[in-house]
Amino acid sequence: MTKIDFSNINTSTAQSFKAQRNLIKKLGRGATVLCETCQQPLSLTTPKAQGKKLESGISCVNGCTDILLEFDN
Ligand SMILES: [Zn+2]
Repeated sequence: MTKIDFSNINTSTAQSFKAQRNLIKKLGRGATVLCETCQQPLSLTTPKAQGKKLESGISCVNGCTDILLEFDN
């Protein structure tokens, strides 16, 4: 029988979440972070109220990086 190991998936999800948080911290400090795909500087969209949720994101000018972040504040 083949057993599917979900722990690897959970770990990588947690790591990418952590990586995103680090990215936000860097950008929040005013550091320049380049898009892995097009090497253009990523920009941080600061949280703004959209309906009931605060939304912010990280994106590059070409749109190959477009991370939407949600905060339940
Ligand atoms: Zn890009």
